[in-house]
Amino acid sequence: MPEPTADFTAALGTALAGVDTADARALWRALGVGGVVAALCPDGGNQPDPRRLATLLTELDARCPLGVTLSVCVQVATVLPLLSEAATAGPVAETVAGMVRGETVVALAVTDAGASGSDLLDATTRAKLGDDAVTLDGGKEWITNATTCHAALVLARHREPRHFTSFCWLLVPISTPGVTVEPTGRAFAGSGVGHLRFDGVALEPNALVGRPGRALAGFARQVGVERLASALWSRAICRRLLTGLGEWLRARPAADGTLWDHPAVREQYARCLVALCQLDALCAPLLDGPPGPPSTVTGMVLKVAAAETVETIAAEAVHLRGADAFRDGGEAALRTEAAMFGIAGGATGTMLAGLADHADDLLRSGP
Ligand SMILES: Cc1cc2nc3c(=O)[nH]c(=O)nc-3n(C[C@H](O)[C@H](O)[C@H](O)COP(=O)(O)OP(=O)(O)OC[C@H]3O[C@@H](n4cnc5c(N)ncnc54)[C@H](O)[C@@H]3O)c2cc1C
Repeated sequence: MPEPTADFTAALGTALAGVDTADARALWRALGVGGVVAALCPDGGNQPDPRRLATLLTELDARCPLGVTLSVCVQVATVLPLLSEAATAGPVAETVAGMVRGETVVALAVTDAGASGSDLLDATTRAKLGDDAVTLDGGKEWITNATTCHAALVLARHREPRHFTSFCWLLVPISTPGVTVEPTGRAFAGSGVGHLRFDGVALEPNALVGRPGRALAGFARQVGVERLASALWSRAICRRLLTGLGEWLRARPAADGTLWDHPAVREQYARCLVALCQLDALCAPLLDGPPGPPSTVTGMVLKVAAAETVETIAAEAVHLRGADAFRDGGEAALRTEAAMFGIAGGATGTMLAGLADHADDLLRSGP
């Protein structure tokens, strides 16, 4: 049985007390030392419990810049489960132990420099697998934790056919000769987002994570947990935005009282509440479900719903707050960064194309 959420919340509160919440590495260490990373997965499993994941993301969202929450999110939802599943001994098992203690940060390097992020089958980052060595060449772009990580979990092509069995995972220490890191710019402060290049990177055969040929199928499955995480996190952002907006509207003087008294303003606000209730309703059955990925269709529905709900509510928060939305750290800046919910981990257009392919299933029984 999972621990009661209250215990998890208390451990999380203790871990976060006094930590610099703008420093993703310090935060990750605090979560590890406080036992929060270990406690996310019940019964010694590899997958985060959905309620604990929701609690973690809500607490981080309340305290950290978006980029810092992103840094934690990708590690707990995707990297750690993928590595844990493959960890038996050697560097992979050591890395998992280091992550759980909060000492090791690992980036997920999937989006390829040589192909559209929505089309992984055309990825050009290549691994030559030999008996005594593995060589990696290529590049990965827009990788969270790239500038702050100790290692990257890299999706690489080891066979030429354009087929999902042509890919493997490699665990690449970032200090290996031939690895270069370039920050992407100032957006997403704290996320460590950057580009990675691999030029003739020589690795030991034990850098392979899991069996070659299984990587893409494993990722396609695990990304469902990242999509659930993105819905749970975006729900927290929407709730935070609407709470702040409601307080502000009630305090903002208008001719006959406050802005909250205007029927048109109240109606716009209520539309946002409905959008949030719809997202809550989609997430509710998954919160009490078992840890692990939802179905592919459910993952895609969650991803689109999360992106569109954040966009609707952030846009309305900017609209209703007027010039005040442009203060430092205001809703206008958040709205720009929150656009990533429609891109990272699966662009909305790609999700919609996938959902159209499943139209008959969805119409028959829903997600
Ligand atoms: C803040 C941030 C953090 C990120 N972190 C990571 C990370 O940690 N690891 C990682 O591997 N990647 C990461 N990414 C990259 C992200 O996963 C990709 O940006 C995403 O997969 C989309 O790929 P793309 O940007 O190449 O867009 P493209 O795939 O080129 O798509 C561009 C547009 O075309 C549309 N489109 C493309 N293909 C189709 C299709 N088949 N049908 C319909 N429409 C389509 C999409 O809707 C999209 O709007 C991150 C991105 C951001 C912004």
